[in-house]
Amino acid sequence: MKPTVVLVGRPNVGKSTLFNRLTRSRDAIVADMPGLTRDRHYGHGRVGDKPYLVVDTGGFEPVVKEGILHEMAKQTLQAVDEADVVVFIVDGRTGLTAQDKVIADKLRRSGRSVHLVVNKAEGMNRGSVTAEFHELGLGEPVAISASHGEGVRELMELVLADL
Ligand code: GDP
Ligand code: MG
Repeated sequence: MKPTVVLVGRPNVGKSTLFNRLTRSRDAIVADMPGLTRDRHYGHGRVGDKPYLVVDTGGFEPVVKEGILHEMAKQTLQAVDEADVVVFIVDGRTGLTAQDKVIADKLRRSGRSVHLVVNKAEGMNRGSVTAEFHELGLGEPVAISASHGEGVRELMELVLADL
């Protein structure tokens, strides 16, 4: 069985950009699976000879209690339940937000293996862009640029190393 890597994070941090980079140039999918909402996309990725399934979630709005955003948060939590490993993406340009802290808390309680990733780090010093995210209590943050492809291969090697 391929391990399942689930991408989570608040809207606009770059989940879909990373998903597209991980899955592009594979024939398949980015097809929606039957019975799931359009907000969860599945695709195939590979690092070296290790294939994996990657899931893009539509967004994580845990503070909203009703309506579509609540439904999206529920979908995201279901995806986390099915994950072998979670990649939690934050935005190095916006910096740490209250929403990031709420998500971090949910992820810690999920008992899943979580890698914290600081995106949009192109042109920034790795040490300073990651510094404020240590307080999320999810280990050493990894700086990447999903849009420029920087640090992405190293990230996936790390993420898949224990699986
Ligand atoms: P999602 O809502 O988490 O899926 O985020 P998207 O992938 O849709 O990206 C949100 C915005 O951030 C878009 O305008 C992207 O072009 C931009 N973005 C994504 N990755 C990067 C990055 O590595 N660097 C910069 N500067 N912008 C990025
Ligand atoms: Mg998206």
